[in-house]
Amino acid sequence: MTSGVGMVQMPPGWILGHEFAGEVVALGAGVENRRVGERVAALAVYACGTCPACLEGQPQWCTGSARIGFSGAYAEYAVASARAVVPIPDSLSWDDGAIVEPLAVGLHGVHLAHLTPGAKVLVVGAGPIGLGAVYFARRMGATTVVVQATSRRRERLALEMGATAFIAPQEDPVGAAIQAVGGQPDVVFEAAGVPGALAQALDTVRPRGTVVELGWCAVDDMLIPALALMKELRLQFSMTYRIADFEHVIDVMARGGANKLRTIVTETVSFEALPNVFDALRGPSTHCKVLIDPRALA
Ligand SMILES: [Zn+2]
Repeated sequence: MTSGVGMVQMPPGWILGHEFAGEVVALGAGVENRRVGERVAALAVYACGTCPACLEGQPQWCTGSARIGFSGAYAEYAVASARAVVPIPDSLSWDDGAIVEPLAVGLHGVHLAHLTPGAKVLVVGAGPIGLGAVYFARRMGATTVVVQATSRRRERLALEMGATAFIAPQEDPVGAAIQAVGGQPDVVFEAAGVPGALAQALDTVRPRGTVVELGWCAVDDMLIPALALMKELRLQFSMTYRIADFEHVIDVMARGGANKLRTIVTETVSFEALPNVFDALRGPSTHCKVLIDPRALA
């Protein structure tokens, strides 16, 4: 059996951390579009800044010397690509800046869904990406947004982010979702990323509906293409974000959205506390997004 897992393994010594904000303390040679002292949120990509994709504001498709996952923000200092950072206003906190990245992932998925006003939506998975999709789906006209998870631990978070209902069925997840939505959903956002989730989404969505795949499933999975064909479904994979998605998240936050969006942050910890937090996150947890403050003491 083959799988894509190998491509997502980081080499030894790799510094984790791709969701972050910080103050510009130094500029690389030739950088003219940024200034020292600026507060910025960084995309998790290195971009050349000159290829057609970069010039379109889509550095995730850079055909120059692009590197996805580039960052290493579990540190006091990190390197960011000057062409892939977006200024944040003083009204936003560092915490706000650090969650722009995952929220932009959710927004990008919603952007690709082409929602119509009044749409009925199902979001599978209640992590930061799923909850970001909830928030932006509501803003973009969905009137019904049901969140489906495997437990009720994040029910309160989902409802605060704009979900109209939350379900955690123990059996018949497809039937339970259709009942909660009030019919087959027009769009399903799959943000669980576990084997079987995509097939379930294709089964749940209405004929000629749309499934947006936001989940990261890096092992072999199975679905029956004929079932999707019989419903003439649109299956849209969503990969990170555009510069415009970052800018829109920051704009929404600055116009008052930050209070609600920072709901996904359930704790901010020090580096010293981080190993224990990672251990806690291996099991069932009420956490959603845990942030690291490099200045915090244990
Ligand atoms: Zn480029």
